[in-house]
Order: sequence, then structure tokens, then C-alpha cells
Amino acid sequence: MSKVFDLFIIGGGINGAGIARDAAGRGFSVCLADKGEIGGATSSWSTKLIHGGLRYLENYEFKLVRESLKEREIVYRIAKNISKPIPFIIPHTDKIRPAWLIKFGLLLYDNLGGKTSIPKSKTLDLNKKFPNILKEKYKTGFQYYDIQIDDKKLTKLNAQDAKKNKAKILEYNKVKKAEIINNEWVISLQNRKKIKSKVLINASGPWINETLHKNIKIKSKNKIRLVKGSHIITKKLYKEDVAFTFQNTDKRIIFVIPYKKNFSLIGTTEVEVKSPENTVISKQETQYLIRSVNNYLKKQISKKDIVDTYSGIRPLIEDFKEASKVTRDYVFDLKIVKKLPLLNIYGGKLTTYRKLSEKVLIDLKKFLPKTKVGPWTSKKKLI
Ligand SMILES: Cc1cc2nc3c(=O)[nH]c(=O)nc-3n(C[C@H](O)[C@H](O)[C@H](O)COP(=O)(O)OP(=O)(O)OC[C@H]3O[C@@H](n4cnc5c(N)ncnc54)[C@H](O)[C@@H]3O)c2cc1C
Repeated sequence: MSKVFDLFIIGGGINGAGIARDAAGRGFSVCLADKGEIGGATSSWSTKLIHGGLRYLENYEFKLVRESLKEREIVYRIAKNISKPIPFIIPHTDKIRPAWLIKFGLLLYDNLGGKTSIPKSKTLDLNKKFPNILKEKYKTGFQYYDIQIDDKKLTKLNAQDAKKNKAKILEYNKVKKAEIINNEWVISLQNRKKIKSKVLINASGPWINETLHKNIKIKSKNKIRLVKGSHIITKKLYKEDVAFTFQNTDKRIIFVIPYKKNFSLIGTTEVEVKSPENTVISKQETQYLIRSVNNYLKKQISKKDIVDTYSGIRPLIEDFKEASKVTRDYVFDLKIVKKLPLLNIYGGKLTTYRKLSEKVLIDLKKFLPKTKVGPWTSKKKLI
């Protein structure tokens, strides 16, 4: 008789890989399949920050910011080899947000997550500190810290650790169909193999509803909005190891972040799209990012300075607000199909993947065999 896994996970992005790591480390038998490379989709197209999300405070998302700040501390501790704290400078411009509002936001940001090893915020004299980078009219700035991380490596390290704990990780193997036969989930893969499992988790990121409707053949009331975010990469725009948070007149913010040794990463945009496939930056998005940089930096850039671009799709839970105001929090949709559990994971951030994974195992506890191992991933380093 073929093996029946405790858990089958569709999707090897950060959420799927994080769940696989946590579950395998607790002694559950886990199988994960991705249609591409582990961490090859949204989880390598992010801005590569483990952050509290300073700007979500403006949308009163205190719970999300608090959880994210706590996770920032933990993820930094367990993944120091692929991450580092980096100062972000917000040049002040009265026309967009008053100074008191930013200072108040930063006070909350410094304290909401509790004890932290990450430096606190402060006010800077920009003309003294960065006379060669910023235009002279930006005199005052606010500095805060977040963590820069290699998002793809973070995902791969999670999958590798799951593998060490005997999880089966399958790449380039699309889940074609998942159905219940004889009281078990039977998952049909692209390579024609069939895998059996007690629990099914759909962690297919922006493909979540496509997987649910087309491959699992279940209808969902949960609507998602697909919002494209694009980045441009230029040769290093300045030599200092600092990032900038530029406020735009539409109230959105753009980051300029030192990237690898010789580059600057600039992003991101927000454009609603119909499908998660073929994501590329548009002319308008490119212009928007260039314009934003040129409003602040002395060195003016143009299309010619771009050496690379990438775009990803945020699968945001539809709550009928402007894209920048739609929550970045995650939602679980646990369905019981013919007495067997199917957990769909909507939304989320790179930053909160570990906590999300822990919560998944709490929610699925009653469907899984008993083990002696409880939550463990906050203490064990990802090597
Ligand atoms: C532009 C942008 C910037 C961002 N910046 C940040 C940031 O700086 N910090 C932060 O915390 N978060 C950020 N995020 C959010 C973060 O990137 C995502 O929340 C996270 O990567 C989502 O991971 P996931 O596992 O849900 O999805 P994905 O990484 O997309 O993984 C889903 C996987 O499912 C697979 N799949 C789909 N269908 C099937 C199938 N039928 N069979 C098998 N496999 C399948 C896909 O191949 C894919 O690998 C950003 C997002 C975007 C788009």
C-alpha cells in the first residue's frame, strides 16, 4: 500500500516552504510540490525586506505591524547569514505628511513590537549627512531601520530544512488535480504520480483561486485582487550603505535600496492585473519610478540607467479599497471537504511567514497525529 502523508502542500513559495519546515520538524510526514523552482515566484520578486510595514500604520493596521515587528526580530535572529539591518531615511516634505505625523508613526514603530535589537529612529540634518545624494531642499530627514534579506534563499533554506526532516520536496511538478478517494486526498501530479494525504494545504500564492477552482474543483467566496508590483535595478546610485523612503504626491512611497554589491533596487508600483502570468514592468511603471527618484536625488536617472527589472503579483484579499490601502495580512480559509481538511492561504507577507506557519499547525492540530514537538521555529537557526 502506498504511503499516506500527514500533509500535502501545493506551492513552494515562502508560505508553503515555511509550513513544510515547521511541520516536518514536528515529526509530521510532509510532501510539497511546486510547478516551478522553490521560491521561484512571488517569493523572489519582493522588495526583499523583513519589515514591520511603517506605512500600514496610516491604515490603522496596528495588529499586523505589531506581529510583523515581532517577526522581524525573530527572522533576523534565525537568518542572520542572509539578512542585515539597514537604515532607511525619509526626506521630509511638508506637502505630503506633516513632521509630527511621521515622528509619531516612528515612535509607534520603535515600540509596538516590544524589545528589539534593531536601532531606534532619529531625526537627521540631511544637508550635513547626505550633501551629495539628496537635493538641497530636503533639509530634515527621519531615520529608521528594517531588515534586508535574500528572499529566495530564505525560501530555499526553509525547504532544505524541511527536507532534512524527511519532507518530500518536488520541484517542476504541477498539481493537476486533487480529489478525495476512499477518505484520503489523492493528488495527481504533472509527472503522473499520485500522492495520498490526510490534509491538503493550498499555498499557491497568486494562483490560489485558480488552483482551488481548476485543480481542486471547489468554489470559494473569497475574492482576491491581483496587484502587480515592479522594481527597477540601476548601477549603484550612491556609495553610502543607506536606503531611502521617498514619499510621492499620490501618498505612496518608493524605496531606493542598496542591492548586491554594485546596484540600487528601486520599487515598487501598484497596478491591478487580471492574471498572475507574464508579469513585466510597463512603460508607465518605469516612468513613475524614475520620476520618484528624480524628485529627490541630485543624480538624475533615465531609462538608460536601468540594468534589470522584475515584477511580482500581490494576491491581496479583496476589501474594495485602493490597492495601497488593502490589507497585507493573511487569511486562512479552512474547508472540510467530505470530512477531510483543505486549508487555503490568502495573502500574507514574507515577513510573517514563520508565524503564519505556526498558526497553520495550530488550526490543523485536530486533523493531525499527536506529536511531542510544539512550536520550535523561532529558536532554531536556518543554516
Ligand atoms: C512587488 C512585491 C513586493 C513585496 N515586498 C515584500 C517585502 O519587502 N517584504 C515582505 O514581507 N513581503 C513582501 N511582499 C509580499 C511577499 O512577497 C509575498 O507575500 C510572499 O512572497 C507570498 O508567498 P507565497 O508562498 O504565498 O507565494 P509564492 O511565492 O508565489 O508561491 C506560490 C507557489 O505556488 C506555486 N504553484 C501555483 N500553482 C501551483 C500548482 N497548481 N501546483 C504546484 N505549484 C503551484 C507557484 O509556482 C509558486 O512557487 C511583496 C510582494 C510583491 C508582489
